[in-house]
Amino acid sequence: MKRVLVVEDEQSIREMIALNLSMAGWEVLEAGSAEKGIQLLQTAGPCSVALLDVMLPGMNGFSLCETLRRDNPDMGIIILSAKSQESDKVKGLSIGADDYMTKPFSVNELVARLEALARRVQRSQPVRGEDQDQLVSGPFILDERSRILYKNGTPVDLTQVEFQIMELFFKNPGTALVREKILKGVWGENYFGDVKIVDVNIRRLRMKVEDQPSDPQHILTVWGYGYRWSPEGK
Ligand code: CA
Repeated sequence: MKRVLVVEDEQSIREMIALNLSMAGWEVLEAGSAEKGIQLLQTAGPCSVALLDVMLPGMNGFSLCETLRRDNPDMGIIILSAKSQESDKVKGLSIGADDYMTKPFSVNELVARLEALARRVQRSQPVRGEDQDQLVSGPFILDERSRILYKNGTPVDLTQVEFQIMELFFKNPGTALVREKILKGVWGENYFGDVKIVDVNIRRLRMKVEDQPSDPQHILTVWGYGYRWSPEGK
């Protein structure tokens, strides 16, 4: 499915983007506000990629990004901003955007980045192996029946908690997961322990999963937030 949601309130920019994307073979859903964008997704169905302007009337692009990310963990999201401050970029990426572009931009570059993101999103989704109980993510296979993780075909010994964290990562590739979400996802809604237990387990997981635990390629830290799984390496 080559379908993209474009949320941009400046009509001329939105139309220019939509025109170029449809010429490149995309089905484009256009929205002039975040609210309209959410509504479109509900009525027209899912998109593989969303392009979000930051400065919008009503809900801004960052809030929209968080909302979309919550409901669509597999969607690729590009933030488009007039601001070129690094802090905006960091914010965009930490709340779950996959890429970030500043205005003014080259429309050819935009189309190219969107295509690249769509391919990446598709590839990084966990595919069921020949065996239905296996989840595949990059060079890793998670066998849910035997509860064994394989890295390049070699079994990696995990605790049940570590295995559950990996399951969560595999099902949310490329997505920044806040510590609290990992805590709730693995230890359950009723666990009121400290989120530090997440960090402790991540440290142990890196020792087992990464070639160089001090320079992780797959279990990436999102500063002040949590962790992100990169199937193909960073
Ligand atoms: Ca705008």
